[in-house]
Amino acid sequence: MINDTIAAIATAIGEGGIAIIRVSGPEAIEGVGRIFRSKTALQDAESHTVHYGNIIDPATGDSIEEVIVTLMRGPRSFTAEDVVEINTHGGVIAVKKVLDAVLLQKDIRIAEPGEFTKRAFLNGRIDLMQAEAVIDLIRSKSDRAFSVARKQAEGILSKRIQALRQTVIELLAHIEVNIDYPEHDVAEMTAAYIREQCGSALEEIGRLLKTANEGKILREGIMTAIVGRPNVGKSSLMNVLTQENKAIVTDIPGTTRDVIEEYVSLNGIPLRLMDTAGIRETTDVVEKIGVERSRSALEDADLVLLVLNNHETLHEDDRKLMELVEGRPVIVIINKTDLPNKLDIGEVESRFGSEAVIRMSVVAEQGMDQLEKAISRMFFEGELDSGDLTYVSNVRHISLLKQARQSLLDAVEASDIGIPIDVIQIDVRTAWESLGEILGDTAGDSLIDQIFSQFCLGK
Ligand code: GDP
Ligand code: ZN
Repeated sequence: MINDTIAAIATAIGEGGIAIIRVSGPEAIEGVGRIFRSKTALQDAESHTVHYGNIIDPATGDSIEEVIVTLMRGPRSFTAEDVVEINTHGGVIAVKKVLDAVLLQKDIRIAEPGEFTKRAFLNGRIDLMQAEAVIDLIRSKSDRAFSVARKQAEGILSKRIQALRQTVIELLAHIEVNIDYPEHDVAEMTAAYIREQCGSALEEIGRLLKTANEGKILREGIMTAIVGRPNVGKSSLMNVLTQENKAIVTDIPGTTRDVIEEYVSLNGIPLRLMDTAGIRETTDVVEKIGVERSRSALEDADLVLLVLNNHETLHEDDRKLMELVEGRPVIVIINKTDLPNKLDIGEVESRFGSEAVIRMSVVAEQGMDQLEKAISRMFFEGELDSGDLTYVSNVRHISLLKQARQSLLDAVEASDIGIPIDVIQIDVRTAWESLGEILGDTAGDSLIDQIFSQFCLGK
């Protein structure tokens, strides 16, 4: 049972138009009410109402700050507890002073990172999958990733996992009845039933896992390495990508500058540019770190952009690089097409396929849309469709779904070869637990702590 009250600044720290202090718990209304002077006492106010007034310094009785207070009585609030949100309009000092005044109240303490969301989870208002989607919302690197996370936070994916669990629990109940009341002709029927129930669960898991690749990419960005000889235009490409396609998340609290700089959104496709600093300083992968090292850098890349110079014939180092990236997901950018062609494009196309070769001029800003289409083809099986945004995107969920799939496959196989039903029961139960772990029903405390520790303060 949670019986203390927590408070924190819920908006980004720094100079801003307004800041919000969020207070949640049994003492929220009483505690804030004591230092809030307004027309209606907070303690007497109705739920879901907004109040104008002043926060009073408890020591002097003077006003610290003019505020607007929103009151939400549990369980109709984010945490399912009594929640008071204080909107201040001042800078850092005023916000801090108001928070200090709140924290002086009996049984109110500063919140840990993620503690509001954790309470929403512990109070059963959201499941673990939805809580993780809240982290994804804060961190999303593109419009699309944001929309995917929002769907998950709303619980669209949780509902499908719950339905899956229902299928599995029905099977488990059926098996357990047969273990407790064995009758001679039930065994055959049970084997058929196991195949049927597992089959429909496996189909649904298959459908969900089909979205996992794209989902993971949307969530985490495509790890992209830009390689090429000196002077082919890598830094110029990087600059165009980062300047014109800034990640849209600048005003979302919890995102840090360096994270934003690493990500660019190419028409909704989130690219995570590797080794950005290196390229910016015009150090070149092959030259600086050598072929061996760039090979290992390339290992981590989901996508390699190999840049060649249209205005020069193929250099020995170009050929080395082409060899190096062969077999990786690569798009070759023939840059500087504004200059006369000297490069044997035919040779490059015969090696990588014409679909993977893009003609581009970074300075003339030509070819960016072809690049985007090529990436889209490579990672999203064609055009990104804006309709269905139900994706499994979190590696934790993906791996638990795979575990559940394996357990169900084991159950089917065991039943096919006539293995006793109490052994099969173990597989089915394991599948049920894996699915439950996605939602947090069967997740241990340490996992839960670890997940919520990823949040920023005030969430
Ligand atoms: P890097 O060494 O591969 O990073 O190459 P840079 O991006 O530093 O570019 C080297 C030179 O090529 C610079 O002078 C750029 O302005 C020029 N450059 C880059 N892209 C183009 C292009 O598309 N056309 C032309 N004409 N010049 C380019
Ligand atoms: Zn460079």
